Amino acid sequence: MTYSAFSGWADRPTDFTPMPEGELTCDIAVIGDGYAGMAAALRLAEHAADVVLSESGFCGRGGSSRNAGYLPNALAGDPQLLNTLYAHRLPGLVRYADEAARFTEWLIGRPAVDCDYVPTGNVIAAVSPGQLRRTERYAGILRRAGADAEFVEGRDFGLPHTFLGGVFERAGGLLNPGKFALGLRAAPSRTASAAGRCRRRSADGRAPAAVSPPARCLLRRRGASGRPARTPGSPP
Ligand SMILES: Cc1cc2nc3c(=O)[nH]c(=O)nc-3n(C[C@H](O)[C@H](O)[C@H](O)COP(=O)(O)OP(=O)(O)OC[C@H]3O[C@@H](n4cnc5c(N)ncnc54)[C@H](O)[C@@H]3O)c2cc1C
Repeated sequence: MTYSAFSGWADRPTDFTPMPEGELTCDIAVIGDGYAGMAAALRLAEHAADVVLSESGFCGRGGSSRNAGYLPNALAGDPQLLNTLYAHRLPGLVRYADEAARFTEWLIGRPAVDCDYVPTGNVIAAVSPGQLRRTERYAGILRRAGADAEFVEGRDFGLPHTFLGGVFERAGGLLNPGKFALGLRAAPSRTASAAGRCRRRSADGRAPAAVSPPARCLLRRRGASGRPARTPGSPP
């Protein structure tokens, strides 16, 4: 048996390089380079911001490289409870969760990000008759709030026999989280250096306007020695 001190989904990166000495100036500093930090930096760089990412380990070291690999568009909370307490906000929450899954798919579509993604959708599955009734209620609530979701019977839908049925949400799917995290780690510098022009909305929010010079995105990490390190390929 082999034990991994990293994630089990991908090999720990070895391509650490020294960070430039001295102070760095930037428009925006992003602290912590999991999915959230790296995705934020990518978007900011593409909107012509000068971004510095700061990470205490290495990009993708945390939960982002070691999760279960489900990309859902599910609400984190209980749909019935949310519907009882915040019915008027539920459609917005459903849209938000859906946009998050679509945004992740957009990230996955980037050239450096190859993470074995399969857009299967996801089932919130029930293993008891009580859970099955609850998921049927959930499906109704989510559909009324605008979600692309439906209640499915396990046998009809082809679920393993342990699962009686559940809410099938068409968005999202399965991926290798380690490869996704390390793919994002490789992506920002390529994006920034490849961006001959960045585009962003003009002040009135309508017409896209070209921005020059292109965005610069420096990745700053602290290596094992405690000294900061720069991701290979990022602009000097
Ligand atoms: C076992 C498990 C299974 C999961 N399964 C799923 C799943 O199937 N689907 C799903 O959607 N979600 C799942 N999740 C949740 C998901 O992994 C997290 O929500 C996500 O990774 C959080 O990303 P993040 O960028 O916010 O944080 P992280 O990935 O944890 O990144 C935070 C980064 O910040 C760095 N850091 C911390 N403090 C500092 C500091 N002071 N200075 C600089 N850097 C710092 C850390 O080193 C780390 O790299 C799972 C989580 C776990 C633990």
